[in-house]
Amino acid sequence: MRKHNFNAGPSVLPEFTLETTAKAVMDFANSGMSIMEISHRSKEYDAVNNEAAQLVKELLNVPAGYSVVFMQGGASLQFAMIPFNFHVKKAAYLITGSWASKSCKEAELMQFGEVVKVASSKDKNFTYIPKNFTVPADADYFHITTNNTIYGSEILKDLDVNVPLIADMSSDIFSRPIDVSKYALIYAGAQKNLGPAGVTLVIINDEFLNKIAQRPIPTMLNYKTHIENASLYNTPPCIAIFASTQTLKWLKNNGGIAAMEKVNISKSQMLYDEIDRNKLFKGTVEKEDRSRMSVCFVMNDEYKEFEAEFLEFTKGKGMVGLKGHRSVGGFRASLYNALPVDSVKALVAAMQEFEKQH
Ligand SMILES: *Cc1c(COP(=O)(O)O)cnc(C)c1O
Repeated sequence: MRKHNFNAGPSVLPEFTLETTAKAVMDFANSGMSIMEISHRSKEYDAVNNEAAQLVKELLNVPAGYSVVFMQGGASLQFAMIPFNFHVKKAAYLITGSWASKSCKEAELMQFGEVVKVASSKDKNFTYIPKNFTVPADADYFHITTNNTIYGSEILKDLDVNVPLIADMSSDIFSRPIDVSKYALIYAGAQKNLGPAGVTLVIINDEFLNKIAQRPIPTMLNYKTHIENASLYNTPPCIAIFASTQTLKWLKNNGGIAAMEKVNISKSQMLYDEIDRNKLFKGTVEKEDRSRMSVCFVMNDEYKEFEAEFLEFTKGKGMVGLKGHRSVGGFRASLYNALPVDSVKALVAAMQEFEKQH
């Protein structure tokens, strides 16, 4: 029996992805070879590479003038690549959580120029998204993290800013339609909403790419390398890209991203409603900024002693991954696309049952 998998990442994937990838591990495209054995220069793999990029473009409605590439090193390497390629004078960051802070830290580390923290919600343990900030008009770029995976807040709107907008969408890409034209660069590690770890999706505006810094950039850290070679400069993580392609197909076959957003709204609403109703629990994030993907909650002070017991209780019901990140405590339920509605219903039922017992 599969678990109710609330893990934050790596996380639940569609069974379709698991089944088709398992088949390709044994025999990929009737080649008599595994997806792990075949050449990345073969025509069979080339078809996967093309289909992956094509499906990303189709599902996210990527306009002309953008490139879609697959890289390695995780979202964390993007934190460094962005300043290396694009920080000339001034880099601006919105500090909404740990990942946002880590991305900003890389820009500070390399000292290519000034780093501006435009606003931060650190004063309240990242429980809200700062509003009413001003992005310096002369910034090379403005970096945001759309979903605050650890603290559970989310920027659900495509921001309008007057400088190139860069977004880390690792934990909410494909969860709702976005207007790609508002972004200069979007990136996401695959292991939350797309596939296994090992591949990072990058969508980049070709004009923005022309603003690349005039400094020596290591070949592998240069976006142009990956774009000019269509993600095939060096050996790609073929199996991770294959599996991601399966998830993209699954998304397409299930009505695409608009349909997925409806499900995500209803799944997260169901859980937040129970958190707000149940006398044992309370949410940790300002209501208007609550994430649909990463639902963080704790026990009310008078019931705090039962937190460990509740975790055990849910474990007994086949649920995993509900322990909150150590910097928040309590609980976190990651409700990624592939998490079935039934898993959310099971969690809500467990919260109700636990309430009755206490
Ligand atoms: C998980 C996560 C990361 C880190 O991703 P890696 O691929 O492990 O480097 C970065 N940003 C966000 C928003 C994340 O959720």
